[in-house]
Amino acid sequence: MENREKYEAFYKRSIEDRDGFWKEQAKLIHWDKPFKTVLEYQKPPFANWFPDGTTNLCYNAVDRHLAERADQTAIIWVSTEVEQEKTITYQELYQQVNEYAALLKDLGVGKGDRVLVYLPMIAEVIPVMLSCVRIGAIHSVVFGGFASTALASRIDDAAPKLIITVDAGIRGGKVVPYKPLLQESLNQISVTRPKVLLINRNLDPNLKMEKGDLDFTTELAKHKDAVVEPEWLPSSHPSYILYTSGTTGKAKGVQRDTGGHAVAMRASMKHIYGVEPGQVMFAGSDVGWVVGHSYIVYAPLLTGATTVVYEGLPIRPDPGVWWSLVEKYKVNCLFTSPTAIRLLKKSGEEWIWKYDLSSLESMFLAGEPLDRETHRWVTSALKHAPVVDNYWQTETGWPILTNFKGMGLMETKFGSPCRPAYGFDVVLIDDLTQQPAEPNTKGSLMIRPPLPPGCLSTVWGDDERFVQTYFSRMREPIYATFDSAVYDDDGYYYIMGRDDDVINVAGHRLGTREIEEALCSHPAVAEAASIGIKDELRGQAISCFVVLTTGAEPPSEADLKNHVASQLGPVARPHFVRVVTALPKTRSGKVLRRAIVAINEGRDPGDLPTIEDASALDKIKEACKN
Ligand code: AMP
Repeated sequence: MENREKYEAFYKRSIEDRDGFWKEQAKLIHWDKPFKTVLEYQKPPFANWFPDGTTNLCYNAVDRHLAERADQTAIIWVSTEVEQEKTITYQELYQQVNEYAALLKDLGVGKGDRVLVYLPMIAEVIPVMLSCVRIGAIHSVVFGGFASTALASRIDDAAPKLIITVDAGIRGGKVVPYKPLLQESLNQISVTRPKVLLINRNLDPNLKMEKGDLDFTTELAKHKDAVVEPEWLPSSHPSYILYTSGTTGKAKGVQRDTGGHAVAMRASMKHIYGVEPGQVMFAGSDVGWVVGHSYIVYAPLLTGATTVVYEGLPIRPDPGVWWSLVEKYKVNCLFTSPTAIRLLKKSGEEWIWKYDLSSLESMFLAGEPLDRETHRWVTSALKHAPVVDNYWQTETGWPILTNFKGMGLMETKFGSPCRPAYGFDVVLIDDLTQQPAEPNTKGSLMIRPPLPPGCLSTVWGDDERFVQTYFSRMREPIYATFDSAVYDDDGYYYIMGRDDDVINVAGHRLGTREIEEALCSHPAVAEAASIGIKDELRGQAISCFVVLTTGAEPPSEADLKNHVASQLGPVARPHFVRVVTALPKTRSGKVLRRAIVAINEGRDPGDLPTIEDASALDKIKEACKN
């Protein structure tokens, strides 16, 4: 059977024989008490997967592998910031999670309690997360780049019993103190002040411990060789909360369950990523993001694979650093964002070719649109390893649209994250008719509930918000991704951008993505951002900012405008195109279009807690003046 036919049969079964399909996938993990019911769906859209089974994520990620792979490396930790590397075997990880779990219990943390993890990419971060789920505590990892107000609102929402933090992170060689920021947040919160446990890396000479703050090393020493049996939890027990900002209002706490999450993670490694037990996965992301939760921590360890935890930038000390790690640690699967690749693209493929990448079987890119040029470039630069674009969200935890390395790849079409993953009943809805859209016409990307295992079970503490935010966009209750898309005659999807990124020029809806794609197809353009600015006559006009490819002959503005118009039609001709040296982005690589719009309209861009390079905003401001 061809790969396409294999995929189609597999996908069809996942939708039409949902219970049979997931019952089979659920065998990939260990259940202490096997489930009888696959899905309880009495209260749509709340899906309760494997409701009467009990399991434990930490047991499945660690204890379960000891019989066969106690001496295998579980974690390779590399920091190019503090110039250290460390490997941890499954046996060592077992000991760590037991000792850490004993410490948590000693500090009064128990089943259902929240632990806020405010840590950078240090070697301790995975054992911290796993020790929480070992005892049924719910971790909430907050990305280190958040400002104090954002951190305070997350503390207020999760009401944690304990916060685990560090004296400082380090980024691009610059020490970033965490403790003062946390202190500022604690001064703003309205919930009971949680205990603070601090891992001292000795990076911040001005570290100030407050009364009651606990030192991690001292506390941990009390639990040497402790053994804490895993807590067998109902499948629906929350494993973690991860906050994600929405288009409006305060951040939403995406709540993940235990059993469904374990099954989804493990199954995705088998069918999508094609990573086998004993192989090596390197996800160049941060545990503060969903990619980090899923593909640095849970999926590789649930599989019995080795995971690379990297603290540092992809281009420091030089743009070859990631490829050198692929060579050194024989990485089989590399996962990162298109932004990281565009950054490496600027330095040239010589950096890739310097290293022996024969172990690499695939590369996966996600988190934002992968423009055709970048996809083409990295595919040709890597030579043998296929590059897979996969589309998903914090809410789903694993790919909605993807190609399937594990099952056998289908044809790659540049610009498309391929086809729906098993379990996701994806449908494109025409906004006007609210009916399924025809091929090659734009619509809203929606998922018919129930959502498959591994997706958010609700918004933490706010079931109503879960239903209101995600299931009330259309007349029928169907999950909204808030992305618009088209699909072609072969069923391949193309993401056009977030619905909130649509530019409306004289009644024509244009996705920011399409305009950016058009600009990026110009040989001199490395990156592009497009936004809609107010226009008296046409409603909105398109304004664009581009970063040029190193060494390229700078094109004229007219040339760039004509280029877009020639690709998308005269209606898409930008009002202006300005050249800048960097685009303002979040640390996870998303262009901050709303901030660019604010600057264009002469407004304050507001609170931008996770901006990668704050000077990029000034560059936009400068460019707007010209
Ligand atoms: P987050 O929850 O922060 O991971 O953001 C999810 C959003 O990122 C999606 O709703 C999309 O808008 C965008 N996104 C993620 N992956 C892709 C992809 N492969 N192609 C296009 N957009 C993507």
